[in-house]
Amino acid sequence: MSFNSQIQAVAYCRTPYKQKFGIPRQPGLVSAARGFVELAPPFNQIDAVRGLEQYSHLWLLFCFHENLAAGWKTTVRPPRLGGNEKLGVFATRSTFRPNGIGQSVVKLHAVHNHNGKVSLEISGMDLLDGTPIIDIKPYIPFSDAIANAQGGIAQEAPVLANVYFNEQAKSQLEQYQNNPAYPRLQALIEGVLAQDPRPAYKKAKEDPKLYQVALYDLDILWIVTAAGIEVIELRASTI
Ligand code: SAM
Repeated sequence: MSFNSQIQAVAYCRTPYKQKFGIPRQPGLVSAARGFVELAPPFNQIDAVRGLEQYSHLWLLFCFHENLAAGWKTTVRPPRLGGNEKLGVFATRSTFRPNGIGQSVVKLHAVHNHNGKVSLEISGMDLLDGTPIIDIKPYIPFSDAIANAQGGIAQEAPVLANVYFNEQAKSQLEQYQNNPAYPRLQALIEGVLAQDPRPAYKKAKEDPKLYQVALYDLDILWIVTAAGIEVIELRASTI
């Protein structure tokens, strides 16, 4: 059965994540990721978020706008299962879903109202920069947090990789990290790379290939050694 709905963006999310590769696969995994939900007209009114500052966390409902063209799939291969096993799309949090709607709980740090622009300062998001937000709701612990819930294939947080910087990357990090344009840069890089963003079939394998993630307007270059993930260069982004 069809219904007539006109969903529009109520806001857009500003995040350090400039490309899909490297974004954590769920919220809360990289708390050093700071960003903003910027309300869009006609919702850009402080009255529309009155009272929200009393909550520590928010639900963001959003559109996987960079994946819509790929459409949906009946079954998908969750990275958790090494990419080898298929599950039904509705049994996963895959981006290949009908309607392309995602949902994430994020931490709310502040509500801002500057020069007629209302924004919510958040952290821990798993959203691409520019993601359209289609709804914002307060997280309500007594009903949203369920003790002893069964987490299926995702009962535990992913195992983290060891991340370290080589000498060149250490000195480049020193140049960038006091710049207010890159808040919590070291923790952000470490948090993102500790997730090991590579495809599931490569996990836990040494890998001389040069990988790159884009955070803010920086490209972070890295390889995988026997000791973990080695950051080898930070440089101005090319994307
Ligand atoms: N927490 C959400 C959920 O469960 O609905 C999203 C989970 S989904 C597995 C997270 C991934 O979506 C990220 O790692 C990133 O690759 C991708 N992603 C985030 N924002 C996106 C966007 N605007 N368009 C397409 N893909 C996006």
